[in-house]
Amino acid sequence: MTRQIILKSRPAGIPNPDNFEIRTVDIPAVSPGQVRVMTHTMSVDPYLRGRMNDAPSYIPSFQVGEPIVGGGIARIVESNAEGFKVGSNVMGYLPWQEEMVIESSGLKIVDENMAPLSYYLGILGMPGLTAWFGLMDIGKPQSGETVVISGAAGAVGLVAGQLAKIHGCRVVGIAGGDAKISYLTDELKFDAAINYKTTSDLEASIASACPSGVDVYFDNVGGGISDAVLSQINKNARIIICGQISLYNATSQPTGPRIQSVLLKKSALMQGFIVSNYISRFDEGLKALSQLVDTGKLKYTNTTYHGFERLPEAFIALFEGKNLGKLIVEL
Ligand code: NAP
Repeated sequence: MTRQIILKSRPAGIPNPDNFEIRTVDIPAVSPGQVRVMTHTMSVDPYLRGRMNDAPSYIPSFQVGEPIVGGGIARIVESNAEGFKVGSNVMGYLPWQEEMVIESSGLKIVDENMAPLSYYLGILGMPGLTAWFGLMDIGKPQSGETVVISGAAGAVGLVAGQLAKIHGCRVVGIAGGDAKISYLTDELKFDAAINYKTTSDLEASIASACPSGVDVYFDNVGGGISDAVLSQINKNARIIICGQISLYNATSQPTGPRIQSVLLKKSALMQGFIVSNYISRFDEGLKALSQLVDTGKLKYTNTTYHGFERLPEAFIALFEGKNLGKLIVEL
């Protein structure tokens, strides 16, 4: 028997612990091609919120009564699959479950001698690849340009900002909290960072941090923060729509400024993307990110919650801004 966490009910607005439930399930025997694993680190990610709605999206909804599934790392404790040895660590999309039998075909072996295991859920995983392809493919940062990142102190944002710095840009981060602002400017050497929760005039703060205007905007949050940035874009600006977390819990769709005339006058590009669009190029992105991590040019940090039963709490914390860097749960 093992414990798993299911979606008990669909959240209306911000999720709460009552939307989740722990239940106990059997562990079946290990068939050919399968392994039995013990989960030790799970990623919690904002996109899981969209999967909790009963609405069409780029990825299917979770069903009520079924386990939540997310990125995770587990250790193999029994194997009936060639190439998957007992004791190896694997990464894959795993149910929120302590122990399980799973097909090996969806798993990738990860090596803790190459990088801390949690990095495979962050800078050397889906969030790092999101920052890499969003910034490099859509943003195309040029030396001397000004790049603004919202959600700058999170899993994706702090990689995107550092990559822009490496490309010689002036980098301005927007985040919610003084500790986050200090981390961005003192540790990661962003040129400026703005605490959107305490500034009295966000537009004025952005104008002062971006005296030459905004050439690239990496948007993780949407809403009013993005309205304030988009009013200050330069000619030929590139706007990367990576995420809209400020709207994920909205129960009605807010109307903001009509942006098309700004895009027209500035000959600007605004493009949304999903990281899985780049699946055929993941190796290229991982190689580039690994080199930058190995040479110390990219730094990374996690916020870690401990305990299987805290997975829902950790997930909800994303919407409260409680994380600096990647939010993970160690079981
Ligand atoms: P994250 O930034 O590590 O965590 C979420 C952060 O969002 C929080 O720490 C909080 O930081 C901020 N936030 C929460 N509610 C907010 C609100 N109402 N207004 C403004 N900021 C708010 O998460 P992540 O994994 O790096 O993801 C960042 C964004 O990228 C998300 O929108 C996510 O959906 C998106 N994403 C997209 C793709 C893709 O393929 N396109 C892939 C991965 C992630 P503050 O303290 O700064 O408020």
